[in-house]
Amino acid sequence: MELKEEIILLTPEGKRSDGRRWDELRPIRMRVGVLKRADGSALVEMGNTKVLAAVYGPRESHPRHLLPPDRAILRVAYRMATFSVEERKKPQPSRREIELSKVIKEALEPALYLEEFPRTAIDVYTLVLQADGGTRTASINAASLALADAGIPMKGLVTAVAVGRIGDQIIVDLNDLEDKYGDADMPIAMVPVTGEITLLQMDGTMPPDLFEEALKVAKRALEIIYNEQKKALRERYLRIKDEVLGEEK
Ligand code: UDP
Repeated sequence: MELKEEIILLTPEGKRSDGRRWDELRPIRMRVGVLKRADGSALVEMGNTKVLAAVYGPRESHPRHLLPPDRAILRVAYRMATFSVEERKKPQPSRREIELSKVIKEALEPALYLEEFPRTAIDVYTLVLQADGGTRTASINAASLALADAGIPMKGLVTAVAVGRIGDQIIVDLNDLEDKYGDADMPIAMVPVTGEITLLQMDGTMPPDLFEEALKVAKRALEIIYNEQKKALRERYLRIKDEVLGEEK
């Protein structure tokens, strides 16, 4: 018989597998404007999950007759680098990547004024460089920063996080272990300025009273992440300002 090492997701003292408390987010790092050739770009790290996003457009696309006359189309491609996971990921797009591309597109679309750019396409690419749970939410955070960096008019940034459950305990910002062995994983995306929820998925089960609590916990986490996004955008604008002023001297 194979002996499996027991996985402890939550110690009696309330510590999670990576030492966090139930409501603690992983360290967040965000940088906007990391790719010169893209119209907008961002690199987002939530702990060991690292995602790069690039935006191109609004731009012409062929065949033109397939583009709607009254708005831009948003195309999203979510991919995982072959080296981003423990077992090498095959380079061809998997069903999961195709599904997540759709999920991310639907989470971003309500925040955009696509009608301002008829007959054009906006392409969003998100590439997972390292995966440790929450790659769709990190992709949404990175993509929305990259869209803002590309100067695409938005109602507001889109911010995302996953909350979950280990027994009766709600946890926030799940890592890979918690995603796999926890009792529930609930990714949420929101446009904080309007309060609109643009993504809500559920893997596992969540009793109704815990669901209400999980939503509240998620909103607190989203506020923290949203502030980091705004900070990263501000830093980008300050860098641009410094560059412009430097050139004028
Ligand atoms: N994962 C993996 N290999 C894969 C796909 C996923 O190891 O081919 C891991 C990865 O750490 C990912 C986690 O499983 O973050 C959870 O994946 P899920 O499909 O729930 O999406 P995510 O939480 O990343 O949005």
